[in-house]
Amino acid sequence: MIVIMKPGAGEEQIAPIVEELNRQGMQVQMNEGVGCTVLGVLGDTIVLDREKLELREGVERVMPVQEPYKKANRKFHPDDTVVDVGGFAVGSEALAIIAGPCSVESFEQLSSVARSVKASGAFALRGGAYKPRTSPYAFQGLEKRGIDLLYRVRTEMKMPIVSEIIAPRQVETFELMVDVIQIGTRNMQNFDLLKEVGRTDKPILLKRGMSSTIEEWIMSAEYIMAQGNQNVILCERGIRTFETFTRNSLDLSSIPVVKRMSHLPVLVDPSHATGKAWLVPPMAAAAVAAGADGLLVEVHNDPPNALCDGSQSLTPEQFDSLMARLRALAPVVGRTVGQNRRQEEKVGA
Ligand code: PEP
Ligand code: MN
Repeated sequence: MIVIMKPGAGEEQIAPIVEELNRQGMQVQMNEGVGCTVLGVLGDTIVLDREKLELREGVERVMPVQEPYKKANRKFHPDDTVVDVGGFAVGSEALAIIAGPCSVESFEQLSSVARSVKASGAFALRGGAYKPRTSPYAFQGLEKRGIDLLYRVRTEMKMPIVSEIIAPRQVETFELMVDVIQIGTRNMQNFDLLKEVGRTDKPILLKRGMSSTIEEWIMSAEYIMAQGNQNVILCERGIRTFETFTRNSLDLSSIPVVKRMSHLPVLVDPSHATGKAWLVPPMAAAAVAAGADGLLVEVHNDPPNALCDGSQSLTPEQFDSLMARLRALAPVVGRTVGQNRRQEEKVGA
């Protein structure tokens, strides 16, 4: 961190600042230029309160030179993080494909979708039980019954399950019953929830807030990791822009940006990013080409009658064609598609 003093700031302003920084364990290098002094602060500057420092008498500006996140930072963890989900290595060469309905509606619906997406090559099943809907009158999900149905299908199909949590009080249930806890776009900065899931050791799928910067998104991962849980998987799902044709604008550039800034795996959700089923395959392929570690795709056995997000849901047949397309594309970008053998032994065992 660099502290730039105001022109004319003297010893009486500088000395107490240096003393205070030393007390906090920092080393300070003093650089006296023409007309102003610049302090180079060395140490674990993440813990310093930059705004407070800027209010000190004689301080012109405080400039961080280090990112405000440490555990999620690639600088301190150069190797890619690989998160184990029921024996499948998310963040490895194998693309992690998660598919399933937006919401769990019934056992028949869920098991039929699970069966087909698994046959097509998805390694995990997604399904919302607690739905954070924009309207309070819209379908809110089957709640705990939805989790029970997911768990039943998990056991029968030997497939890990991914579901969204919306409140800290649900952590106990999710910890027991779900393989990957999803934090949705609307809760990316629900810090209480982030801390609570950070105290578990479950893999967390952290979606990007629809109006969040990449740094804010990584800071939310840092919240989870600061509590001890390092099993964070990021998920780009599109952001709000002035464009209204698509539900959101898929920020494909965030994939290489996040990969440079962080060591965490990054998935892409082309379904919520576009809101239109016909846009899902091209955006899924683009995401893989841009370096995504996998995809989260909505698939429904009867999209026109889906209780939620039917317009962006692929049919099982469309999902199967997408997988064929990804199988052709994957080797070109150094990836593989397919299930991991160890997985069946682990899930439902
Ligand atoms: C979802 O994946 O079910 C969902 C609600 O996504 P998002 O939080 O990205 O809107
Ligand atoms: Mn949805």
